[in-house]
Amino acid sequence: KYKMSKPDISRTRSAELYEKAKTYFPGGVNSPVRAFKSVYGTPLFIEKGDGSHIWDADGNEFIDFCCSWGPLILGHNNPAVREKVTEVMQKGMSFGAPTALENELAELILSNNKFIEKIRFVSSGTEAVMSAIRLARGYTKRDKILKFEGCYHGHSDSLLVKAGSGLVTFGETSSAGVPNAFANETIVVALDDTKALEGAFAEFKGEIAAVIIEPIPANNGLLLQSQEYLQYLRDICTQNGTMLIFDEVISGFRVGFEGAAAHYGIQPDIITYGKIIGGGLPVGAYGASAEVMDHISPVGSVYQAGTLSGNPVAMAAGIAQLSELLKPGFYQELNNKTAAFVKDIQDFVDGKGYPVKLFTIGSIFWFAFTEQERISTAEQIDPASMVKFKEMHRELLNRGIYMGPSGYEVGFISSAHTNADLETTKTAIFDSLDIVFK
Ligand code: PLP
Repeated sequence: KYKMSKPDISRTRSAELYEKAKTYFPGGVNSPVRAFKSVYGTPLFIEKGDGSHIWDADGNEFIDFCCSWGPLILGHNNPAVREKVTEVMQKGMSFGAPTALENELAELILSNNKFIEKIRFVSSGTEAVMSAIRLARGYTKRDKILKFEGCYHGHSDSLLVKAGSGLVTFGETSSAGVPNAFANETIVVALDDTKALEGAFAEFKGEIAAVIIEPIPANNGLLLQSQEYLQYLRDICTQNGTMLIFDEVISGFRVGFEGAAAHYGIQPDIITYGKIIGGGLPVGAYGASAEVMDHISPVGSVYQAGTLSGNPVAMAAGIAQLSELLKPGFYQELNNKTAAFVKDIQDFVDGKGYPVKLFTIGSIFWFAFTEQERISTAEQIDPASMVKFKEMHRELLNRGIYMGPSGYEVGFISSAHTNADLETTKTAIFDSLDIVFK
């Protein structure tokens, strides 16, 4: 059956707002990917969200699979989170002094997570990672860190570094404004490559403070790593006195309450979290053993601070959201729902012979326009395939489905996505793919 493209949705009001925004903000946005550079049309200005749905400024309604890039695991405007936040806000919004809410959220996390003994709350994932790196450097008294091509860890200087040429190299800065001196302290290697790791540890023997990885790399496609590889990484770090940092800003509280550490059964030395803890408000965190964490000021010599760290309103959102996640069966239901959704789409594309592979873990999914069965490194992603994503994104928007505006981004399913939402979405995806590959 021949499928027709739908007419583009109206974006009159979004376009007006975007024009105005460009006079206020560089590129009209406060974070670059929002500018829709990799997909069609002007960015949609979102007016409200409820459950799995969002509405833009022109009144278009969408089923949302971006979910604010992950934090909204309960969907938009969850009543439990909203009520708790509203209640706490009545008593003031920031004191710059300790509150019982911080204890309550820490207790919720620590008593249900065997991988960390102490935690510190900060205000973003970037800050969590930046602080974890400083802690590792302070603890080991070494300067170099190692990261992987295809993992994103926020925008701090040491981590805006990409691979140079050659197997084991110092990184090159991936942003203007990052001094080469910083990049020289960051070694970048490919994921899923034990030889490259071995080479790096041999070349920089006794110099590497920390290896940082997204154990479930989800910022450059979904580059699932093998259990064996992650175990190898754990072992080589232990052998070299190097700290292993799991950046669980996406995977933490997402693939399960204890994140990727529990999924793979691997104990990292430091774990960073973000997003989901805040239920949509700005929160990040990092945690480790009590012994390691006690190297942080004011007890230890590694300085780290924040005016809004442990903000009571953000803590309240976290308490409400994480309490929901701890309810029996929460993750099982969410993950099963995602697996069934992904399977139906994969069956459809396989039946049609389209070169599409969906990668998934927990409630995360990623569309790869490829015939490869496995993609575990950034290099295996064909940039040319992004044209197909772009076409699909447009067709999906026109059918009321909102995915993050880049083919390198993963999708998220929340507990608010109903079976009816997922059925509607599948039909829209099938129709869109028929058009993309017609
Ligand atoms: N680390 C990972 C794995 C992330 O996915 C992100 C953001 O997407 C960050 C760090 C940075 O977090 P934030 O954007 O909250 O600063």
